[in-house]
Formats: sequence, structure tokens, C-alpha cells
Amino acid sequence: MVVCYIAVGSNLGDREGYIKAAIQKLRFLAHTKIRKISKIIETKPQGGPPQGPYLNAVIEIETELLPYELLQELQRIEQLLGRIRTVVNGPRTIDLDILTYGDVCINEEALCIPHPRIFEREFVLEPLKEIAPHMLERIRKLILKTKPKKVEKTTLPSSGIAKKKNKQPSVKLQAKFRRYIKRRKSTYRQAINKVKKENKDNRRKFKNRARF
Ligand code: ADP
Ligand code: MG
Repeated sequence: MVVCYIAVGSNLGDREGYIKAAIQKLRFLAHTKIRKISKIIETKPQGGPPQGPYLNAVIEIETELLPYELLQELQRIEQLLGRIRTVVNGPRTIDLDILTYGDVCINEEALCIPHPRIFEREFVLEPLKEIAPHMLERIRKLILKTKPKKVEKTTLPSSGIAKKKNKQPSVKLQAKFRRYIKRRKSTYRQAINKVKKENKDNRRKFKNRARF
């Protein structure tokens, strides 16, 4: 069982009704159990076209679904509840995002865990703090771990330091950067291997099990 945090939001139609319906569907999700639900708060829309205020909450679950299976199930619930994607950050009957999946880091376009914009979104932070204040520091560290590509962008010789001094950084500094980048790459590889291993183990576990 892996503990996950799910952010839920709605700003179209019967917002509270949609959030409650999504929670109800999560209750019936296979191999998944709801552990905690935050208060539902009303928030101003952030980004996107002019639109009405949101209702937001965060839900703590434990699940045996794999990260992509969980994403698929959440998207299925969004569809069942009439979610239609028109514009980015546009109004929606329901939005279900995976904030974290245990300590797993995934950095793909289709699934990024921990959700990269948690700390930009007060509407996520507030309910998350309410039910899991201990998670914030952990998520911050996981997000740092999930961004090796950014580190690669700072590869030499175009690092800020080199530009500032208008010369190549010292050999010692170059070596330090290289060591740092190598370390970050290996951390990233370890995270991917961890997910792959978990997927393999779980697949073996679920092989003979009726899913729904
Ligand atoms: P947003 O939630 O950013 O407003 P959408 O709900 O339309 O936008 O999601 C867009 C895409 O984001 C989804 O199709 C999904 O594949 C991807 N995605 C990446 N990481 C996550 C995540 N942690 N949780 C949910 N969706 C994610
Ligand atoms: Mg979403």
C-alpha cells in the first residue's frame, strides 16, 4: 500500500456536488482506501481565462494501484463527472491531480510526481497543511530530486558564474559541477529503477486478481 495525496477542485455547476461525487467514486476505487479528507475551501482562480471561484480540497488515500493506473482512474472519474478540456487552466466540473505517490519521483509530461506546482498553489497548500503538515518538507525535497534536467541545463561552460566573470570557471569548479551533475543523474536513475521495480512487483502481485 502506498500513501498518496490527491488534490481535487471544481468551479463549474454544482461544485460541492462534484467534489462529493468524486470522493464517493474514490471510495469505490479498487485497491484503494480513503484515509483523510481536508475541509473544502473556496479559492480564487489562478491563471487561465476569467472564470468563477473554485472549491478545493486534498484527500489522503492509500492504494495498491500503480502511478499510471491511479492517473487513469482519476481521469476516468473526471470524465464520468463531465470534465471537458477546452483551454489550459480553464473552468472544470472536476479536476483530480496526484500530488504525491509515496516517495516516488516521476518526471514525465503525462505524469509528474510530486506535482510540480504544489508550492505555487495556495489552494493546494492550505488543505494539504491541514491534513498532512509533515508532508511539506518531504515534498520539497522530492521536487528538488525530480528536476535533474534543470541541473543539466547549468552544465559548463554557460553557467552563471562563468558569464559573470567573463571567463571559464576554474578547473576545480568545473570538476565540482561535474561531480554534482553526476550525482543528480544517478539519483534520478535510482528513482526510475525504484518505480520500475515497484511496477514489476505489483504486477506480479495483481496478476491473478480480478480488478473490478
Ligand atoms: P491541470 O490539472 O494542470 O489544470 P489537466 O487536469 O488538464 O490540467 O491535466 C493535464 C495533464 O497533466 C493530464 O493529461 C496528465 O497526463 C498530466 N499530469 C502530469 N502530472 C500529473 C499529476 N501529478 N496529476 C494529474 N495529472 C498530471
Ligand atoms: Mg488535473
